[in-house]
Amino acid sequence: RIAAVDGTAEAGVHAFLHVAAERALAQAKRVDDDRAAGVPLPPLAGVPIAVKDVMTTRGLPTTAGSRILEGWVPPYDATVVQKIDAARLVTLGKTNMDEFAMGSSTEHSAYGPTRNPWDFTRIPGGSGGGSAAALAAFEAPLATGTDTGGSIRQPASVTGTVGVKPTYGGVSRYGLIALASSLDQAGPCARTVLDAALLHEVMAGYDPCDSTSLTDPTPPVVAAAREGAHGDLSGVRVGVIRELHGNSSGDASGGSGYQAGVLARFDESLNLLQKAGAEVVEVSCPSFTAALAAYYLILPSEASSNLAKFDAMRYGLRVTPEGAPSAETVMAATREAGFGDEVKRRIILGTYALSSGYYDAYYGSAQKVRTLIQRDFAKAFEQADVLVSPTSPTTAFPLGEKLDDPLSMYLQDVATIPANLAGIPGMSLPSGIADEDGLPTGIQLLAPARADERLYRVGAALE
Ligand code: GLN
Repeated sequence: RIAAVDGTAEAGVHAFLHVAAERALAQAKRVDDDRAAGVPLPPLAGVPIAVKDVMTTRGLPTTAGSRILEGWVPPYDATVVQKIDAARLVTLGKTNMDEFAMGSSTEHSAYGPTRNPWDFTRIPGGSGGGSAAALAAFEAPLATGTDTGGSIRQPASVTGTVGVKPTYGGVSRYGLIALASSLDQAGPCARTVLDAALLHEVMAGYDPCDSTSLTDPTPPVVAAAREGAHGDLSGVRVGVIRELHGNSSGDASGGSGYQAGVLARFDESLNLLQKAGAEVVEVSCPSFTAALAAYYLILPSEASSNLAKFDAMRYGLRVTPEGAPSAETVMAATREAGFGDEVKRRIILGTYALSSGYYDAYYGSAQKVRTLIQRDFAKAFEQADVLVSPTSPTTAFPLGEKLDDPLSMYLQDVATIPANLAGIPGMSLPSGIADEDGLPTGIQLLAPARADERLYRVGAALE
């Protein structure tokens, strides 16, 4: 299937940056041999999976969508990758993404964009557009993602698939190429809620290699998905976040960003929740109007620090300028050639925000907004068990449309970013097709930290 549809950066889906065919066949054969020999196997043994190229894979190239890591082959596996191997899934290869996971369209990949399988002229979302497109094009039944501000959920929304950002700390970050360490979280991408739950339980769990890893047992997400599939939500209170509903004054997108078909399908989903017995209430999270601004100070600040390690000495690319090069000029020439425009933009923003004299005004203020957002969530969860909004304000937009307009690209994540700032879990699942363009829309579910199972129960009932 990959050979038939994936094509190249010039034509085709282009979900994969690297296909590990031989390794996949060898893994699959070992599963077959064990099965034939009667060796007991875990539930997902033999199921193919696509891995986002931000996760280190021993012996397989890992670029994070950047030229600066071209040709780098990691000497170790990310914990998530180890767990996938231990569960005997078959790794098909590495999926395309915006460079260092910065973006909402996969157009910031240094290796060319991924196309949306629903319409090749449209974006598949980002940064995990490769993983989402691989699912939507039936190139893989499961994939992994990372979500710092929406990079699992927004691609799921625009490709008609399911994506989950677990509670911060629920899945190990060890071996993930860091974007913003206080926001990054890996999670499952799948075509159904139950599939996502099965992969969630494989990926999650305490890891001593990650200092922010939770020691709690993983929430029972598979059991919750099975229970939800019966379709009974009586006793469940669902809160609609007024500021993320797009037809109230003071909405977080500036009032005009929500597409009619997205809102129509969202309202239908609310009716379905009510039919299943849920009580639907409205909640207000007034600080969400400042979430995007706070995120675009915190994220670049952390990213500028995390990306300092790409110094031409340790990994990948090294560009040596003419004349008598020094460590400094090699570093400058390598970063100039190896990083794309969006990455440079964020490094400049981040180093500026962290500069002495500006720290309190920018980073400090953003951290205060983060606290306000956490308080808004705490209050909202007193009134509701799960919160809902459209995942993304629009369906998949045309390739190229927002490439020269960073702010409109950033607005794609207006509804997904608050969950990262608060560390809570979120899911996007399909909510139907928009009338005006025939493209998929998504509904986002949010739950309190460590209550990931609520997403799966409600998601499976809605599916
Ligand atoms: N689109 C967001 C950004 O560019 C989300 C990134 C992410 O979740 N990795 O920052």
